[in-house]
Amino acid sequence: MPTAIEDCHGCAACCTKTPVPPFSGQSELDTIPSELAAEVIAFWETLEGPLVPGPCMWLNRAGDNCSHWEHRPLICREFEPDSTMCEWFKGGCHGNPPM
Ligand code: SF4
Ligand code: SF4
Repeated sequence: MPTAIEDCHGCAACCTKTPVPPFSGQSELDTIPSELAAEVIAFWETLEGPLVPGPCMWLNRAGDNCSHWEHRPLICREFEPDSTMCEWFKGGCHGNPPM
């Protein structure tokens, strides 16, 4: 089973900008194993103030891939390599995100 989008070639730029896997809410968390959901919620509850960009807790930096690829959030599944947003992330997220 793959653990990273093959077209990403170990990039992981977008995975370094959200410290928590970007699930949309409880209903999406209910679709993954309960122990993983509990882990995400527990980490979320340790965060204070506005969300600060940082490596995702599921990002395996050894291989720059997702530790729970098969359970990654929908937004991660739909993010397209080589899209305008992808290029914005790879360029360092300068300026406003492209619409
Ligand atoms: S920024 Fe683009 S190439 Fe890099 S990991 Fe994200 S989708 Fe893949
Ligand atoms: S859940 Fe996985 S694919 Fe999504 S941002 Fe985190 S490491 Fe990347």
